[in-house]
Amino acid sequence: MITGKLYIISAPSGAGKTSLVKKLQTEMDQLVVSVSHTTRNMRNGESNGRDYFFVSVDTFQTMLEDQAFLEYAQVFDNFYGTAQKTVADNLAQGLDVILEIDWQGAQQIRKLLPDSLSIFILPPSIEVLKQRLQNRGQDSDDIIARRMRDAVTEMGHYPEFDYLIVNDDFDLAFNQLKSVITANRLLQITQQQRLAPLLQNLLN
Ligand code: 5GP
Repeated sequence: MITGKLYIISAPSGAGKTSLVKKLQTEMDQLVVSVSHTTRNMRNGESNGRDYFFVSVDTFQTMLEDQAFLEYAQVFDNFYGTAQKTVADNLAQGLDVILEIDWQGAQQIRKLLPDSLSIFILPPSIEVLKQRLQNRGQDSDDIIARRMRDAVTEMGHYPEFDYLIVNDDFDLAFNQLKSVITANRLLQITQQQRLAPLLQNLLN
């Protein structure tokens, strides 16, 4: 049985990571995006179980004690975590799994699963990043200022990632992201298993 590949996708808030990942989900087969647990409040337009599992701090703590998380981190003032079992089940079924997590979670996953691949999405400029955060229209000026500072911290971790993609032109960035996954699916070590019957037929 071929196991799936784990991809970590990180970005500062406002780089467009979520839109890129949403499109990936609709355009690529055999791929699932992990839904994280968070203690933050639900934003307009979000829904429980689709964007996140929105849980209380108590529930999060209990899950932590039960070792239910593959990784977790405090981002801004909230906790975020990836449920271990769902990821393991999907990988075991041969599905590629995408984790949309921050640099702290990325570090934990790399240690735990060195075969994972990580992709960092950058905005084309600091001005564009600020504009995108303001255009969301959901956060106060204070929150935007803080998110800008946190964005710079997040971006400082780019050297830890395997791939860097600049999201200036959305379609270009999307095609680059898709190419990373496609190229990895074509690796000989993976194809050898996937194409076993063909290879056997060709060589006998
Ligand atoms: P937001 O609240 O804007 O959806 O996400 C804030 C930050 O938390 C983003 O950088 C996002 O990647 C990160 N994040 C979301 N889910 C997880 C998770 O399960 N684990 C970790 N470590 N970070 C997460």
